[in-house]
Amino acid sequence: QKQTSYFFVDTDDVAALLKVRSLFAHKGTFGHGLLVAGAYGKMGAAVLAAKGCLRSGVGLLTAHVPHSGTAVLQTAVPEAMCSIDASDLMFTEFPDLKQFSAVGVGPGIGTKSNSQRALKELLLAQPDALVLDADALNILSMHKEWLDLLPANAIVTPHPKEFERLTEATGDNYSRLQSQQAFSRKYGVIVVLKGGFTSISLPDGDIYFNTTGNPGMATAGSGDVLTGIILGLLAQHYRPKEAALLGVYLHGLAGDLAANHLGYEALLASDIVAHLGEAFS
Ligand code: AMP
Ligand code: MG
Repeated sequence: QKQTSYFFVDTDDVAALLKVRSLFAHKGTFGHGLLVAGAYGKMGAAVLAAKGCLRSGVGLLTAHVPHSGTAVLQTAVPEAMCSIDASDLMFTEFPDLKQFSAVGVGPGIGTKSNSQRALKELLLAQPDALVLDADALNILSMHKEWLDLLPANAIVTPHPKEFERLTEATGDNYSRLQSQQAFSRKYGVIVVLKGGFTSISLPDGDIYFNTTGNPGMATAGSGDVLTGIILGLLAQHYRPKEAALLGVYLHGLAGDLAANHLGYEALLASDIVAHLGEAFS
């Protein structure tokens, strides 16, 4: 087994990853993301993830939402198209994946049995580029045998509680880091374990620590924005490792820029979205 290397993600690393946009670029150049998010009463998660995605440079975004969430999404995020679920309340099906360059699933979808089934179908369809967060991870915690269906280099973005449900790992930070690394190796996926100094583990066991972000980001919806950003980068054909490192760094930097104006207490997840432009610059 390869020896682990540890890295910090800093400005120079991510600046080198950012692709320059050609003067002759068009929407088709920047991919088409599919976001599966939201349920009745949880449409805010879909809105925040959709905004994070669109502010990360994606060409097109389709949000797959329950019927009752359509007006919410289309009003809050007119730039996104909607794919409308047959269910009024939750995620039970998804569109043909052929037209999408990346898929993001999980924020606000809930964990009801119909959504569980739909998530399994989505995994069986093996999207080329995939980020899973929030309730998608909670569903996987309920069906650990489905973890084997995760496509290679899928990105999972648990917060510590979601990670604990997934791996049943408890203990100090170091033992959690070892569980994170073991999970990445076992399933061949990238784990973004969120918190202060988010750690990112790769399938080969290497670990990266993020250097941006602040406690003002410990607020509702903050992680949904990150899911959107990573989806946007994957859809633009950033490689999974690049999308994870770049996405986590930019999300934290946007949060730091927002905190310069607002401080920690008043910072909202929408403020992270609002400062993404400055972060990319
Ligand atoms: P979630 O719990 O899914 O909303 O995700 C929270 C997001 O906020 C993650 O991206 C975390 O990395 C970030 N975050 C939360 N608390 C902190 C903190 N103390 N320092 C830096 N980032 C944080
Ligand atoms: Mg979350």
